[in-house]
Amino acid sequence: MSTKENRSTGNVEETNTAAAAGTRLDPWFNTYADRALGMKQSEVRSLFSVANRPEVVSLAGGMPNIAGLPLDFLADMTARLIRDRGTKILQYGGGQGEEELREMITEVMRPDGIRAHPDDITVTTGSQQALDIISEIFINPGEVVLAEAPSYVGALGTFRAYQASVVHVPMDEFGLIPERLEETILQLQRAGRPIKFLYTIPNFHNPAGVCLSLERRPQIVDICRRHHVLIVEDNPYGLLGFDGDPLPALQSLNPDGVVYLGSFSKTFAPGYRVGWALAPSAVTQRVLLANENALLCPTTFGQLSIAEYLKTYDWYQQVKEYRQVYHERGAAMQRALKTHLPMCEWNQPDGGFYTWVKLPDGLDAQSMLPRAVTQLVAYVSGTAFYADGNGHDHMRLSFCYPTPEAIEEGVRRLSVVVQNELEV
Ligand code: PMP
Repeated sequence: MSTKENRSTGNVEETNTAAAAGTRLDPWFNTYADRALGMKQSEVRSLFSVANRPEVVSLAGGMPNIAGLPLDFLADMTARLIRDRGTKILQYGGGQGEEELREMITEVMRPDGIRAHPDDITVTTGSQQALDIISEIFINPGEVVLAEAPSYVGALGTFRAYQASVVHVPMDEFGLIPERLEETILQLQRAGRPIKFLYTIPNFHNPAGVCLSLERRPQIVDICRRHHVLIVEDNPYGLLGFDGDPLPALQSLNPDGVVYLGSFSKTFAPGYRVGWALAPSAVTQRVLLANENALLCPTTFGQLSIAEYLKTYDWYQQVKEYRQVYHERGAAMQRALKTHLPMCEWNQPDGGFYTWVKLPDGLDAQSMLPRAVTQLVAYVSGTAFYADGNGHDHMRLSFCYPTPEAIEEGVRRLSVVVQNELEV
């Protein structure tokens, strides 16, 4: 049954309760485009109001810990920028973003092994908007996007809005499994279903916490090159490894076959809302047109503030301080899991924000969540990270925002919930 047919019966497939309520209450219900009916509130966002209550320990959100930012420095810098360059930074700019920032972004990507030209970079409103642009320029309704199982909830929401058919590819502790990727591509090709791109998060995956191994990187790139599948490499956490240097970006292995998405949200501050897309030159032309259609230009204020910060502050030292904080919190999460949830299984991330926890057999993370909130702890159910209804047996626990003490207490509360479920 098509979405339109469903709409006339008031039985729209895959809508959430709020949208379904719209069938009765919203006089404009029949006016919406099909794509709007496919949108649903992310499980993460719907948790926000509960998780933000002070008595709740939230292991749910992915808010970076920006308490260590040099606020006095930023205040002085901003005042100086406005005084000295106010008529520039408060004016419209070009649709591709400020060259001054794009040049600095080439430096920021160097640790990933990327050698880029500023002309191939388009600045966006966070990498979330880059995901929207990539979806807009590549996806026709019903076409296939490949994504890891599980995958980032915000990307799945965007793909859904463009009516993509998301096909998940399994991963293990070394990331996306090359053989399974090739198998999936061949199956889809045999079925005559064009694949628009592979969306992948190779570093400190959200939500799975794993990194694509060094060995697998060229294999994934090679498979996609042979089958002419574009790679969309989303890398907001790449610099946030607890130790050591970042692994080479997929982009560095095949610049013509990869659109790389970067962001200042995790390595600096999300409030500026600045991210970017580095793409092959021809793709950049379309990304730019889509950016102009959507925004006219990205935030001049945010871009030039970040450019100034990168030039005048030891930004890499700031990243190292962030790493240290997340390292301590990641370790606190591991200790708490060992102490309180030995009946679960989990991975040990080497960076990023997230631990992916498997519940004992038979437990359902989604239905357990209200009971967890009653115990004053929140997490995100694994179901948020699948387009196909899987993930009930997993939950994502974030260690980025709560203090080590809060992590310990949150996991302790969670153990009470899990224990109760096991006894039912
Ligand atoms: N990609 C991934 C994997 C993310 O985790 C996030 C934010 N949680 C984003 C993209 C979007 O980030 P932003 O728009 O702030 O750059």
